[in-house]
Amino acid sequence: MKREQLRQKVKIFPSRPGIYFFKDSQGEVIYIGKARSLRDRVNNYFLPSPDLKVQNILSETADIDYLLVSSEKEASFIENNYIQFYQPKFNLRLKDDKSFPFLKMTVTESFPGVYLCRRLEDDGARYFGPFSPADEARKLISLIAKVFKIRTCENTIFKNRKRPCLEYDLKMCSAPCVGLITEAQYRENLSQALMLLEGKKLQLYRQLKEKMEQASSELRYEEAAHWRDTIKILEGLKEPQRVISIKRENQDIVGFRRQAERAAVFIFHMREGRIRASSGRRWPGSAGKDDQDLLLEVLKHFYSESSPPEKILLPFKLSAAKEAELISVFKNQNIKIRILYPESKAKKVLLELANQNAVLLLEKEQPPGPIAELQHHLSLTSLPRRIEGIDLSTTGGTEPVGSLVVFIDGQPAKSEYRKYRIRTVSGPDDYASLKEVLERRLKRLLSEKKTLPDLIFVDGGKGQLNLARQVLKSLNLSEIPVCSLAKKEEIIFSAQHPDGLRLEPTSGALRLLQQIRDEAHRFAISFHRQRRLKRSLSSQLDGIAGLGPVRKKKLLKTFGNVKTISQTPLEALAKILGRKLAESVKQQLS
Ligand code: SF4
Repeated sequence: MKREQLRQKVKIFPSRPGIYFFKDSQGEVIYIGKARSLRDRVNNYFLPSPDLKVQNILSETADIDYLLVSSEKEASFIENNYIQFYQPKFNLRLKDDKSFPFLKMTVTESFPGVYLCRRLEDDGARYFGPFSPADEARKLISLIAKVFKIRTCENTIFKNRKRPCLEYDLKMCSAPCVGLITEAQYRENLSQALMLLEGKKLQLYRQLKEKMEQASSELRYEEAAHWRDTIKILEGLKEPQRVISIKRENQDIVGFRRQAERAAVFIFHMREGRIRASSGRRWPGSAGKDDQDLLLEVLKHFYSESSPPEKILLPFKLSAAKEAELISVFKNQNIKIRILYPESKAKKVLLELANQNAVLLLEKEQPPGPIAELQHHLSLTSLPRRIEGIDLSTTGGTEPVGSLVVFIDGQPAKSEYRKYRIRTVSGPDDYASLKEVLERRLKRLLSEKKTLPDLIFVDGGKGQLNLARQVLKSLNLSEIPVCSLAKKEEIIFSAQHPDGLRLEPTSGALRLLQQIRDEAHRFAISFHRQRRLKRSLSSQLDGIAGLGPVRKKKLLKTFGNVKTISQTPLEALAKILGRKLAESVKQQLS
């Protein structure tokens, strides 16, 4: 990809935290970085810079890719792991196995201790983290010692004490080394410390409050004061940083996203408790398959090319038969795997990240263009690949009709256009007509379980926009974004722009909306004309003696319209109407 193409590509990177990858023409990762905003950070590489390293990276770069993460801090952890995995030539820093610290709780011991460590071992201990900076982990250890009196000494010291150490004097340990606390009491303190680390702050808070009230009611004031102070400390604590992994495990975390007929799977590869790499697959042409079949198909294909780890975490439940089918594929390869579904909060968060990256995989397929620009201007969470535009035609107040046009990836999908004869509104009432068309369209999509639009576009201003949003809300579809375009001034209204957004006349996004509006308008007008013509032609059949509504309907049903009836030979008409009436019809239409 040329430098200018790359520059255009990064312009539509998401403004979200993530990791970016510079790749050479062979697809080799040559540089990895992290960013709070991918778009801003990667765009900076294209500004004039005297930095030789940047110039060298760009001179070898053929493509730039990225991965979303949930925070800048998490980006640091994952960047570190990816650099160690890919060993990119321009990442001089972090190429060694320097890793972020974890907090370790030796829960299998009678009197467990709490420590800082840099490696996850398969030793039954509980691990929390990673932490950055390391000082955060140290502060947490100190807090656990202070509040829950958990020891921090090494086992060699613990086993050989005759009397408590300074930690006890500083009220930072309950001195289990010399039996100043029972194992049961120590375990209770430990379980409270674990609750804190697991993020169950509310549950812990309730438990401590109960203890405080009970101690107070039993006049154990010193103990009640201790629980009160503990609660105060916990209340003052900031939210702990999110845990990435707490076990030394090998697992693939599978994200999945489907958009109409296309699907994507994104997999985080966790090895020894750390996300080391990721893979993605786009899957075209999935019409007629449900999500379970599709996921199964993609995974079977993916793991035919690479070996799975012991566990695979899936984004949604497979039926027992499909789960067995997936496991049997691996059995045939003599590989034993377990299929898991997210239960812990940490796994759910990782899975959500994988899902979000699957969404981006689908979106990356789309070259930068008006729909990406529209996504940006309307602050949409995903690309509006499927836009449905609505217009009405009520010229003269008779035969009001509505039109619905569909644009997929910025192109009209004419086979999906729909016409609506307005049924519930008499006379020109654009708002009521719009409401009817929108409701009928969405209810139909819902009842037939068809793909919902990524964006609904209505012709008009604030009023039309608000009406459309009300309809969506009443159908529990508020997540579908809507926008409108007011004529004359060409101002766009949306939830993000209630007072209107003006784009340059050259804007691709504005041109796309204008194209959708014009197409919906053309389609509505042509349908309206057809209706009026049909009506005026069918009225030519009025007043023929002996031709009642039933026969008139039969004629129109058989021949389609009055023009064809007039051109049909008398004998053919006579077969339906009898000779005498056929002659009257021919005479009337001649
Ligand atoms: S008091 Fe005993 S158990 Fe506590 S830290 Fe000191 S040596 Fe370890």
